[in-house]
Amino acid sequence: MKIADNFSRLGTENAFVILAKAKKLESEGREIINLGIGQPDFLTPKHIVEAGKKALDDGHHGYTPANGTQELRDGVSRHIKKMYGAEIDSARVFIAPGGKPSMYFAIMMFGQPGTEIIYPEPGFPIYESVINYTGAKAIPMYLSEKKNFSFNADEVLSLINDKTRLLIINNPQNPTGGLIDKNEIDKLVQGLKKYPEVAILSDEIYSRQIYDGKKMPSFFYYPELYDRLIVMDGWSKTYAMTGWRLGWSVWPESLIDKVTRMAINSYSCVSAANQVAALAALEGPHDFLDDMMEKFDKRRELIVNGLNSLPGIKCNNPGGAFYTFPNVSETGMSGDTFAEKCLYDAGVALVPGTSFGKSCTNFVRFSFANSYENIEKALEKIKKIL
Ligand code: PLP
Repeated sequence: MKIADNFSRLGTENAFVILAKAKKLESEGREIINLGIGQPDFLTPKHIVEAGKKALDDGHHGYTPANGTQELRDGVSRHIKKMYGAEIDSARVFIAPGGKPSMYFAIMMFGQPGTEIIYPEPGFPIYESVINYTGAKAIPMYLSEKKNFSFNADEVLSLINDKTRLLIINNPQNPTGGLIDKNEIDKLVQGLKKYPEVAILSDEIYSRQIYDGKKMPSFFYYPELYDRLIVMDGWSKTYAMTGWRLGWSVWPESLIDKVTRMAINSYSCVSAANQVAALAALEGPHDFLDDMMEKFDKRRELIVNGLNSLPGIKCNNPGGAFYTFPNVSETGMSGDTFAEKCLYDAGVALVPGTSFGKSCTNFVRFSFANSYENIEKALEKIKKIL
């Protein structure tokens, strides 16, 4: 057998490797507190589950249009209007099995040998992996700890040249919880006027997980970009629906047929019943989201203060998502060693920083998608091994 060369360039997501290691230790009888996981530790709200069950009973069993049902695309369009006041024709909305396929399709659409794609580092590992897979050159946009993992618009703009095809932004950010300020995005958008050939992929999957009463600085606020902007969001993190595999994205009018063709060539469409449940999520009560955010906020305070009180650990205060990305270099350990020691000696699963970029050797990612009590316990256990 001889498989295609580009496969050797395809990376992976280490969080799944850590999960497997943690599960193995658990199966051997060890108690493991999982702070490696990137999904809300809440159940999908009942009214959404009920809508999904009813949809199956009502016979929503068949294929749907590859870009999603008209009802759900209309629902997403209304949702965007409600959230950001933006008028988005539902013909530009694309429903996919999770946020990831839209990201994959966008990178596949713009990447090829001889081109460059800019992505955030530290960042979600799939960006770099798929960029490399396409043969394009992956250009890291470094987010610095000193700026609480935001970026400087001028620095980002300085990475653009005539080979640049796509700029990937993720806000709020995985793995750091960094929230890029609207002022900085304003500056970036202003600067992008000089580069009309560069498309933008804005990954806004954590758009509803923002702290301190701040507003989501969405790219939907810049209609001047709409003919080259892809915004990706979804149900996974907001509604605790990671395993349902449901995401939405908005595409320039000129690309929607192309991305739909990608769906037809791969998975055909998203499960019909899930799309009914997805609409119920958008249009149903949202009080559970307030409860979830209240819990995340308390845990954020606990984990940031707890980590900063440990010797050798410097922890940022995340503005969004449910992650912190502390620097552990003053413990004398690299992020990799620290995460390994936490897993095997303290029974706490974390993700080493290098899973989010080669430059992140001093860091680890803590997820606070676990109970307050478990986070307290985990901090105690880590304290003991330091
Ligand atoms: N984008 C970012 C930044 C993420 O962290 C994740 C999931 O962890 C995704 C996209 C993928 O989301 P989904 O599970 O909906 O595919």
